[in-house]
Amino acid sequence: GDRITVAELAERAGLEASEIIKKLFLLGTVVTINQEIDFDTAALVLSDFGIEAERETRVDVTEFEAYEDEDAPEDLVPRPPVVTVMGHVDHGKTTLLDAIRQTRVAAQEAGGITQHIGAYQVEIGDRKITFLDTPGHEAFTAMRARGAKVTDVVVLVVAADDGVMPQTVEAIDHAKAAGVPIIVAINKIDKPDARPERVKQELTEYGLIPEEWGGDTVFVPVSALKRQGIDELLEMILLVAELRELKANPNRRARGVVLEARLDRGRGPVATLLVQNGTLRQGDALVAGTMFGRVRTMTDDRGRPLKEAPPSTPVEVTGLEGVPEAGDAFMVFEEEEARAIAKARAERRRERELARTRIDLENVFDRLQ
Ligand code: GDP
Ligand code: MG
Repeated sequence: GDRITVAELAERAGLEASEIIKKLFLLGTVVTINQEIDFDTAALVLSDFGIEAERETRVDVTEFEAYEDEDAPEDLVPRPPVVTVMGHVDHGKTTLLDAIRQTRVAAQEAGGITQHIGAYQVEIGDRKITFLDTPGHEAFTAMRARGAKVTDVVVLVVAADDGVMPQTVEAIDHAKAAGVPIIVAINKIDKPDARPERVKQELTEYGLIPEEWGGDTVFVPVSALKRQGIDELLEMILLVAELRELKANPNRRARGVVLEARLDRGRGPVATLLVQNGTLRQGDALVAGTMFGRVRTMTDDRGRPLKEAPPSTPVEVTGLEGVPEAGDAFMVFEEEEARAIAKARAERRRERELARTRIDLENVFDRLQ
């Protein structure tokens, strides 16, 4: 941050690098032209030349935050909650996601081919819920690592015949760390050895206490396999989400996160994006991670073409010039700006990777010495 090479300093101050090196030598510091010096040292040298040094307050133009305008409260409207299903392996996450999708989607279009894009939206009356696919999913690890917040509600699936297991606890920890409310779906209640009360008992140890025991955690008994309790679960998700007053501004350029991306032989880079704020439109120029793109085609979770995608909508887009990484942020810009920012971000990512490699190597040498 606050450092500058001798060469750069010389250029900016209109001096010869050799003059600066000589001055530093007289001050007792031996440097080379490409060496970095800190602000105070630079200021001291410059003052000897009668130049006043000024600290630069630089905005990192490669960060999307630099382009974020705060939304005025009156521009914010409710948006659908984004829900993640978590839980121990084999407790029924996939079956539950399928059950939700099939009860809601199949009812609307019998025999329709359900395309798999890693996220889907269901409608309950005039309300919607966005589900992100199972969090074994690479994007979640990446998003967690980058601290990106995508989930508004976590549905914790616990099999009633198995109870709290290691990944159940892990999921609770993740949700708590992210400050996301948990709804417990006690699954497999159709099984003869199901013991839902024991699940409740076990979860109290982790601070998840049912309402009937004086706590504030919602528990819903379900059978993902038999599709029982699904509507109740969806109602509870909407209820918990409503308390959070989730809002976004559809009337601004879109930004969001890359859920997954791949290279398709025929269509080129294909990315599943979750729009978190603003509205994404066909033809929009954007930066996803370090990639420039223009939204060529945009489809919903059922492969239907979309012209616009408001907040909380997962979409599949083509038109990117490369494959971004799951967990990358994306943002819409004017084309020229988008190209420049994508380039700057790519350079910065390369620099950071180089710096990391350098540090790794230094660590290795330190250990060898
Ligand atoms: P995941 O690893 O959490 O995604 O679990 P799966 O959805 O793959 O389910 C693991 C196994 O449990 C599968 O054999 C499912 O058929 C079964 N299963 C899931 N939900 C239920 C349920 O409600 N009742 C019963 N009896 N079996 C279930
Ligand atoms: Mg699964």
